[in-house]
Amino acid sequence: MSLKLDGKKLSLEIEERLKNYIQINKTIANRNPGLAVIRIGEDPASGVYVGNKEKACSRVGIKSYIFHLKDTVDQKEVEQLLNKLNLDNDIDGMLLQLPISKKFDEQRLISNINPEKDVDGLNEQNIGKLVKNEPAMRSCTPAGIINLLRSQNIEIEGKKIVVIGRSLLVGKPLSLMLLNLNATVTMTHSKTINLNKICKEADILIAAAGKPNLIDSSFVKEGAVIIDVGIHRLKSDESKTRLCGDVLLEDVIPKVFAYTPVPGGVGPMTVTMLLVNTISSWQKQFGLSSTLNDLQP
Ligand code: NAD
Repeated sequence: MSLKLDGKKLSLEIEERLKNYIQINKTIANRNPGLAVIRIGEDPASGVYVGNKEKACSRVGIKSYIFHLKDTVDQKEVEQLLNKLNLDNDIDGMLLQLPISKKFDEQRLISNINPEKDVDGLNEQNIGKLVKNEPAMRSCTPAGIINLLRSQNIEIEGKKIVVIGRSLLVGKPLSLMLLNLNATVTMTHSKTINLNKICKEADILIAAAGKPNLIDSSFVKEGAVIIDVGIHRLKSDESKTRLCGDVLLEDVIPKVFAYTPVPGGVGPMTVTMLLVNTISSWQKQFGLSSTLNDLQP
């Protein structure tokens, strides 16, 4: 029987550690960690994601500061807010909830975030350090995937790992993190020729293409590990919707050694890593003990 990599369970276990860490250290720091989330406009999905982050913060004892800006704000006003938060001593981490309107220069906004507070790990300085394999804030979804693999002692070093997708949010940073952990990584994308054949060679196959049910069992080597990053809401009948990933799980599960479910696999780990990054910034600011360092790839 194949092994389910249960991201929901692992994220609850990690949250318990984070909660205890804050309890023990908040008297030294004299305040709880603080996370600022900036949301622009009324995109409903962004509203749900921000709400989930807020709830996760309150479960472990991080104070969240939500800035919900109207979509009439301009680039300068958002930059001013970011600069203000950069200087705010109560804020350890900050993030801009994406996607935002095309009228903004998104990369320039992210560049404005102090790299030490860039809990999404998207600032050029943090990406540069990732390329150089130096410690820095790492992006949350890739870091969550590595923790999921490690939690079941799934070896990364020396393994052939195929990543489907080359986005700045998932595919690229994930490929670099795995490379830094001595895997042999192949990064594939929408223009890759012979995707099926390349995937079939993978010991670990990671699908982050954003295409529902793209990967069936014909892409997967017998006994491989499959990680499904994709998340899609599909209409199952007139009134109901259901979530699925990039992997046609019912077809793939009988063939693999381990897999992540959707929902309950990679998704919960992403939010948990945001908490880890915020606490790690707090830890550095106050010179607190480094007992959470094993969670950072
Ligand atoms: P993206 O659209 O920015 O990037 C998709 C990548 O996949 C691109 O590099 C593209 O070249 C590649 N691609 C597209 N179609 C392909 C195909 N047919 N074959 C091979 N490669 C193909 O998306 P993203 O932000 O990287 O997110 C990918 C998926 O992961 C989405 O479904 C997104 O919702 C999901 N996601 C989930 C989490 C989570 O926490 N679970 C976090 C981030 C993203």
